[in-house]
Order: sequence, then C-alpha cells, then structure tokens
Amino acid sequence: MRLATHSGGRLGVVDGEHLTDLTDALEAVLPGRGLSLMRRLITSWPAAVGTLRSLQGPRRTVGELTLDAPVPDPTKIIAAPINYRDHQAEMNQDFQVDGLGVFLKAPTSALGHAGTVRLPYHDRRFDHEAELALVIGRSAQHVPVADALSHVFGYTALLDITMRGGEDRSTRKSFDTFTPMGPWLVTADEFGAPTDVPFELTVNGRTRQRANTRDLIWGVAELVAYTSSVMTLLPGDVISTGTPAGVGPITEGDLVEVTIAGIGRLAVSVSAEGAVASPTRGAHRGPVPPPPPA
Ligand code: MN
Repeated sequence: MRLATHSGGRLGVVDGEHLTDLTDALEAVLPGRGLSLMRRLITSWPAAVGTLRSLQGPRRTVGELTLDAPVPDPTKIIAAPINYRDHQAEMNQDFQVDGLGVFLKAPTSALGHAGTVRLPYHDRRFDHEAELALVIGRSAQHVPVADALSHVFGYTALLDITMRGGEDRSTRKSFDTFTPMGPWLVTADEFGAPTDVPFELTVNGRTRQRANTRDLIWGVAELVAYTSSVMTLLPGDVISTGTPAGVGPITEGDLVEVTIAGIGRLAVSVSAEGAVASPTRGAHRGPVPPPPPA
C-alpha cells in the first residue's frame, strides 16, 4: 500500500495516478489527536488496516495535489553517516557507520515532494545525498537484528541535504527544508526485502548517484537494531540508511530527483533566494567532498 500525506496534513491511499483521500473518515476513528494523521495511522497499525480498506473518500489526481513529507512530524530523523564503502572512499574517511554510530537531523527539516530546498548561505557548499529511508512502525528498544524488520512500517526516498564543512553534522544537515522525503510511503509488505534496491539521483537530468542497497555496510535490519539500542524508536520515526558515492553540490535553480525501485520519484528544486553569509566558520574544515562533476 502507498500512503501519502498531502495538502497540509491530509492522508490518502495512492493507486497509480490517483489518491483516495481518507482524511475525514480516519479523523473520526483514529486516536491520537494533535499528531499527524500518518503518525496516528501508523500507531494504530495493524488494527487500522482492516478499517482502512473499508473506508471511502473522494478520489483525487495525485499530480494535482501538494504532497507533504509522508510523516510530517516524526519525533526523530536519524541517519547513518558513512554506510557505503564507495562514499567512504570519496570522502577520504577513516571510519564508517560501525565506528561512527548514527546522527540526528532536526524533524523540522522535513520537506515534501516538489518542495523547494532553501540554501541559507551564499558562501558555503551544499550537497545532495540520495538515500533509502525507513519509517518505524512500532516502539523499539534493544531489538535484535532478527526481529528488526518487523518494526519497520514502510519505506520512502530521502534526500539528506548537507552543508559541507567543519560544523557539527546536526547543524550542517538540519536547516529547514534539508530533509525532503517522499513522494509517499510504501508499506513494508508491498516493498519487500530492502536488501536489493536499485536507486538513482539526477541533477537537472544528469545522473550523479547510482547505487543498490545491497552495498550498504549496515543494512536496514542492522541499522534499526543498533539505533534501538541507543534510543527508543517510536512509530513514525525516520531512519535514513546513508548515501553512496557521487555526492555533489547543488545550487540555485537545480532540479534534484531521486528514483528508488518500488517507491518512485522524489523531486525537489533548489533556491538560494535570501541567502546570507555563513555566521559559522567551518568552510575550510571537516571532511573534504569530491570536486563538482564537470
Ligand atoms: Mn547522508
């Protein structure tokens, strides 16, 4: 099943070019007012899935709707720093995920499909990082690897937009709009095993990243198990699995697109409107990214 959040918190089931909007029907039956409808639905799963199938709502054309991040209000966006060997090599890093652990991005950095990434500074480099992300389905603490996938509700495409430099990761990756997600969430039963998933990123139609999740250092199960040993995972939390080689700069006017098999295409534009000089001085420190493609 494909579930989308749209039009400022409404929820629908996507079927091809169409979306059945179940907002009004779900509002009446789901507990948890105050949270997004998607979080309420995930929290009530699997009991809610039977209800969901029996509900009816207006049928809309997906292309005519404004899509939000599938989970617009996760309690956490967690991400893996170096989880592909080819990305470790291009960044000349001594350590990978098993030496670094995970990091947090501000939940307020979430952005939906067709949104605009806003670059805050005119004197810093900002990069795209294409990643497969998973959404947690039920609370998880100290989950063994063998049980980890049963805590995954679904999958979505994610862009981990990053300022390069020496500032802390949580600063460099947490600017508003720096975590585009979508275009929707594909439930784990429909998506299948996350272990052989090809994906690609283009900037203005030219391929920059092409990879497969079989090359992850820590796969989804290992990442969920490890993260749950650090912090309690809650329904709707997002864990991004890390980016492969090919990271590169994005600038004003770029169109960035991530296509993941079994999910679809997440596209965002880039704007530097209103950018100011960086107030922090990390520009010439930190990991050195590869030079921009010719
Ligand atoms: Mn990343």
